[in-house]
Amino acid sequence: MTQSRVAKGPRRAFQASREAFARVTFLGAAGEVTGSCFHLETGRSQVLVDLGMFQGGREADAKNRARLGLDWKRLDAVVLTHAHLDHAGRVPLAVARGYRGPIHTTAGTRDLSGILLLDSAHIQESDAERESRRRRRRGQKPVEPLYTQEDARAALAQFEEHAFQDWFDVAPDVRARFHHAGHILGAASVEFDIGHGGERGTLLVSGDLGRAESQSDVMRAPTPPPAADWVLVESTYGDRRHRDLASTVEELGAILKQAMSQGSTVLVPVFAVGRAQEVLGHLAHLEKAGVLPPGRVVLDSPMAIDVTGLYRRHSDCLKRGLDPGVCVRIPKGLRQTRTPEESMALNREEGLVILSASGMCEGGRILHHLKHRLWRSDTHLVFTGFQAGRTTGAAIVGGARTVRVMGETIAVKAKVHTLGGFSAHADQSELLDWLGQLPQPPRQVALVHGEDRGRTGLAAAIDERLGWPVMQPRAGDELSLSVRS
Ligand SMILES: [Zn+2]
Repeated sequence: MTQSRVAKGPRRAFQASREAFARVTFLGAAGEVTGSCFHLETGRSQVLVDLGMFQGGREADAKNRARLGLDWKRLDAVVLTHAHLDHAGRVPLAVARGYRGPIHTTAGTRDLSGILLLDSAHIQESDAERESRRRRRRGQKPVEPLYTQEDARAALAQFEEHAFQDWFDVAPDVRARFHHAGHILGAASVEFDIGHGGERGTLLVSGDLGRAESQSDVMRAPTPPPAADWVLVESTYGDRRHRDLASTVEELGAILKQAMSQGSTVLVPVFAVGRAQEVLGHLAHLEKAGVLPPGRVVLDSPMAIDVTGLYRRHSDCLKRGLDPGVCVRIPKGLRQTRTPEESMALNREEGLVILSASGMCEGGRILHHLKHRLWRSDTHLVFTGFQAGRTTGAAIVGGARTVRVMGETIAVKAKVHTLGGFSAHADQSELLDWLGQLPQPPRQVALVHGEDRGRTGLAAAIDERLGWPVMQPRAGDELSLSVRS
């Protein structure tokens, strides 16, 4: 059961004492997988680690709009682990509310945020506009967008970029450095060195952790963690084992072989960041192996096209980074359709493999492809990621006979395939392997960014394998940092 408490921010101002020289308050991703936000306080400094959006569920909008009880003018810094909106999506809101300080990121996160935050702001604006029109017709007051593109641009101007491994000052008594977390371009775990003199300790925030080297075509594995007194670790798949990548790719190959021999078209809904690049790599490999004829793959998502370009520029985060030019493999003769006209022209062709966003069929161009092809039994629809809650993707995977697409009821006659091995998140064994590489046992581990099932499973596994103290904080809970106990 996902909890839905809205954290009101730190309950009272923090005062350093004999008992604690610093405090962490969990403001989001505490018992759920979105809204990542942790408030770190010493007697002299205040820092936010991540400021992500809550996504999905009825309360998400209210939680995103909630006042965090922070004095934005007194906040010293925001440090981002990566650009996914559930970690960085509320940064423009902080700026709209008066935050003028630095937003520390890696170069990859800064560039990806340039795409994702502007897109998010655009969606906020058009959703608010649509809702306001509806409300006006009912004689009600219009609504304001969560934030605007102007807010997003102002936020981006406050970004400060740092190289992996280099220490940087965050606040008078806090410094930090980024470590590779795998996961997506620019993703980092953040090591904080807090306090001074004898009252000093290190806090490690894992961010979202990626896969082992053998389980990704694109991303490098997370680097082994440095020693830390306190560790906040994600637990999205803390209770699960992912399917092996090699067998997943084999299954994809078999689907493509069958579809191509029938002259059928294959639709692949993908997330523009990460999944699109990962799948392109596997398609390139299958093409080279002769499973897929050249010139069949289409990347039909302007955002995925831009993000793929970024991946090729920031090769240091990627597994083949030392081999320039091949860091993201793409199929020969890959067609990239930027304009709506090019996208619609695909309706007149067959024998294609069309990658399009969004990954859960909740928006984007995949919708018009579904409308055009989902009702045909010769279409193959291949899901490469988890389909959440009440999304159209989840309905199709769940066996719905019809779904609503662009205001129309469409029959589901296509052959639907779900491939399980492409996750960008570490599974239980990979999380344990990462933790197990800590040079010494931490004083305390806090499980964040996981629903109760995920973190309960991980807590039990940590207890069994490592025997370390583990907490599962709820929104609003605190962790006191003390070197005395
Ligand atoms: Zn993420």
